[in-house]
Amino acid sequence: MPDLKTCIGQFTLLRRASGTVWGEVTRRKAPHKPILLMAVLDLIARGVITTPVVDVTGDLVELNDLFNLYWRRVVSVGRSSSIAFPFSRLHNEPFWKLIAKPEHAVSDAVIAKTTTVSYLRTYALGARIDEDLFAIMQTESGRTTLREALLQSCFSEEAQLALLEQAVVNQGAFDYELMLEKQAHQPLVKEVLETNSYKPAVRDQGFRRMVVSTYDHRCALCGIRIVTPEGHTVVEAAHIVPWSESRNDDIRNGMALCRLCHWGFDEGMLGVSINYQVITASSIGLAPNFAGSLQTLTGRAIIQPGDTALRPAQEYLGEHRHRWKLK
Ligand SMILES: [Zn+2]
Repeated sequence: MPDLKTCIGQFTLLRRASGTVWGEVTRRKAPHKPILLMAVLDLIARGVITTPVVDVTGDLVELNDLFNLYWRRVVSVGRSSSIAFPFSRLHNEPFWKLIAKPEHAVSDAVIAKTTTVSYLRTYALGARIDEDLFAIMQTESGRTTLREALLQSCFSEEAQLALLEQAVVNQGAFDYELMLEKQAHQPLVKEVLETNSYKPAVRDQGFRRMVVSTYDHRCALCGIRIVTPEGHTVVEAAHIVPWSESRNDDIRNGMALCRLCHWGFDEGMLGVSINYQVITASSIGLAPNFAGSLQTLTGRAIIQPGDTALRPAQEYLGEHRHRWKLK
């Protein structure tokens, strides 16, 4: 039965690929495994992962979001990676075992071929974490100790600080998201938000997660919904009245919008009527514009959250219409 010391040892001695691409920041080895484990610790803290099984559907989408946030802190811009790499290769560590689908088997050859989440999902249901390790991961002190072991053994001092800061932001964003969710059903959310000072990174992440999940990754205006197998979504969290002016992360001052609709909305080419239908500005069709599908949105009912208490407030939509003289 592994005790804390054994677990720390296993985390400290992760087998990581070496290569000339990895600099001193990651101690000249690949950072995938420790970053995935940091994300797993976050999801256990949030109560998203509650059993020693990490599944390759819902859990993986959530993990991917956190994985990328950590990744961007220590890996140079433009260099991306799939979470499928560490998720599969951790199988070679004593505490993480892939669970194969019936009629499938996990082998070194299969693992070596795993470079995408799509492929991972063809043969694996998830991964099982050693139960004793999981028990330690469920305590805050255990998580702190294990996180420290990962940071100290795998990253430079500067990178350790950046990753630790990200861990704090991740926790803060989760608390912020919970608060927004709770306040969404209260009339005074704006005032509540004004009396609290949250770091921009915490706010951005919490608001984004809350809005995107409320709309289930669907653009409120055009209805498009695309989530890649890696968990990347086409939508962004848009403020109806910009944050810079309103300082208002009330979920009812937000909508999930695809990149094009977000731009169109912020430029005043798209709006929402008092009847929750899409309004398009006449300027959208002026020569030499070719507005394509955007013009066809005129009069279309917007996509609203299932919980009507969370739908965009006319107070904010009206301010947006007034500003851009949309009728
Ligand atoms: Zn759209």
